Amino acid sequence: MIVINGGTVLTINDADDVHFGGHVVLDGDRITAVGPGDYPGAGGEVIDATGMVVMPGLVDLHYHSAIGKGFCDHLPLLEGLEQFWYPSIRALDPQTAYWAARSSYAESIKNGVTTVNDMYRQLGGLGRAAEEIGIRAVLSNDVALPEHNLDTLQDNHDAYDAVHGLGGGRIEVYVGIEWLPLASPELLRDARALADELGTGIHIHLNESLGEVENSRARFGRRPTELAYDAGLLGPDCVAAHCVWLSDHEISLMAETGTHISHNPSSNAKLGNGVARLPEMLAAGINVGLGHDAAESSNTCDLFDVMKFASLIHRAYRVDASLLQAPQVVRMATRNGSAALRHDTGQLAPGKKADVILVDTANPMFTPLRPGDKAHLYSHLVFAADGSAVHTTIVDGKILMRGRELVTVDEAAVLDQANQALRRVVAAIDYHN
Ligand SMILES: [Zn+2]
Repeated sequence: MIVINGGTVLTINDADDVHFGGHVVLDGDRITAVGPGDYPGAGGEVIDATGMVVMPGLVDLHYHSAIGKGFCDHLPLLEGLEQFWYPSIRALDPQTAYWAARSSYAESIKNGVTTVNDMYRQLGGLGRAAEEIGIRAVLSNDVALPEHNLDTLQDNHDAYDAVHGLGGGRIEVYVGIEWLPLASPELLRDARALADELGTGIHIHLNESLGEVENSRARFGRRPTELAYDAGLLGPDCVAAHCVWLSDHEISLMAETGTHISHNPSSNAKLGNGVARLPEMLAAGINVGLGHDAAESSNTCDLFDVMKFASLIHRAYRVDASLLQAPQVVRMATRNGSAALRHDTGQLAPGKKADVILVDTANPMFTPLRPGDKAHLYSHLVFAADGSAVHTTIVDGKILMRGRELVTVDEAAVLDQANQALRRVVAAIDYHN
């Protein structure tokens, strides 16, 4: 049992309760008590969270483990994919993928992320990395048509058999579709059939770029989301990433099917893909979470960075400072992401999974801070803080980082091995930046 006393408890529950000087109690992998004041019971490890925010761990809803960053920073999506991303992920072996995942998950844990929705390759290596480091992970393959030499649905099926359910159910396998330019209507139908057969979900890139929309219209006579809808791919078990270029009709299809969207504004901006119609998605009642995408496309796993971007870019684009206020953005990065993955996380309430982070406010990012002021605290979390303020990260009731020190892995060794993995891949694909 872990008793967390003395912190500002940001529950993200339905009433948006905040307990200044409250407690959270974890027993095994579940939260058993949340409330004001110190926990009256006894026993277990006691964490003094004075000066800290205690809140649900962040959910990174669109994620790729990354082998490299800082390459192709000047290139648009398709060119970046063809020049670095696809060659690099074709060159992955299980060991290289393992170190890519281990270093990516380490960075995410240090930024307060407790769940990743990771589409990558060599899921055996990813599953082992997630199992050992302790993060909650939904893994999916990069499935494409065979001529693209990525993954097949059979690869994804095999990965499900080998990896799904590891870590006491903390690690799941979804069916992943890379994107429509590398797919066909038949592949989408087969992906849906496989997900239904396995009883699992689907993760797909959809409507990411104007080029993708043009490709879909030219090859299939329909827009990407219309094609996915017709193939039966969409639904409440499907996470569609990006959705930058949605027509009104496509937004209605997302809402009708209960499909969840991962909004990844920093990736969309850096790759020159545009600004998603987030206000319209939210107005249509679509559940939208946040993702960083990949270090190759946004250079950091810091979801605080994404939260800030998710507010600022729409205000700038629409010339409207009332859009995407801080409490709503924090909810997107916690509860909404959790709901999209149908997880029992994303809020601090008895019975929920014990995925909790402590954010230190004793630093310039949170200063000045008025005691007892909920709105002020939310403002700092979204507009002032970055992930370096995260002090402690807990998943399934296990402490993965304490005092910014990773507990389950040797960080220096992870960084060294990640550098070696990058050198192997760059040499294999003969890449020059
Ligand atoms: Zn992506």
